Amino acid sequence: MIVAIDGPSGVGKSTVGRAVAAHLGLPYLDTGAMYRAVGLAVLRRGLRLPLADAAEVGRIAGALDVTVTGSATDGRTFLDGEDVSADIRSPEVSRYASAVAAVPAVRRRLAARQRELALAGGGVLEGRDIGTRVVPEADFKFFLTARPDVRARRRWEELHAKGTPQPLERVLAETVARDRADETRADSPLRCDESYRVVDTSELSAREVVERLLAIVAGAAAGG
Ligand code: C5P
Repeated sequence: MIVAIDGPSGVGKSTVGRAVAAHLGLPYLDTGAMYRAVGLAVLRRGLRLPLADAAEVGRIAGALDVTVTGSATDGRTFLDGEDVSADIRSPEVSRYASAVAAVPAVRRRLAARQRELALAGGGVLEGRDIGTRVVPEADFKFFLTARPDVRARRRWEELHAKGTPQPLERVLAETVARDRADETRADSPLRCDESYRVVDTSELSAREVVERLLAIVAGAAAGG
């Protein structure tokens, strides 16, 4: 079974995706972590934003070994063998991830790898283009949404809990900027269509969202 969960940043895809994968006994793939790893590599090479040379970014990405462990309980990301799970979560890497994600050569490579993993073992895949490009034939396609202020607050709380607080206004501005970049890029923009089930999570707890998704999956299995 393949479950696609797409939506903008801070909407709770990871929390929900992990729980849904654990419940269904499926592998879990955080595709954003792969873009983040490439973003981190590009940042470490000293390239500045906005990225001026897409060909160079493509070359750098082509030589990298990015691995994301496909488990719901222990999701780790490796860049050329180094565990970068913590490093890829900084606001700076978020900006780089969004920038490298607009480079077609990077998308081609990562999307192909993601598709391969999905087709080999099924799974819950979470990202921006899973249901539109990576596995359009997924058994279930969910699009999570939430108001930008709600998403920014969730992200703000996360940063606070990690001991790396940021002003709420800045988190909100970055959330909105990243949405815009993800929605307006030419290659595989974040886009919802009628093949998705849309779930607005603004007024729901993560648990309620998980229950809703699992109910839809169970309903389909029961022939409903
Ligand atoms: O989901 P997360 O915030 O970790 O993703 C980081 C960035 O990676 C996003 O802002 C987006 O630009 C990019 N991304 C993407 N396609 C995906 C997953 C993530 O373009 N399937």
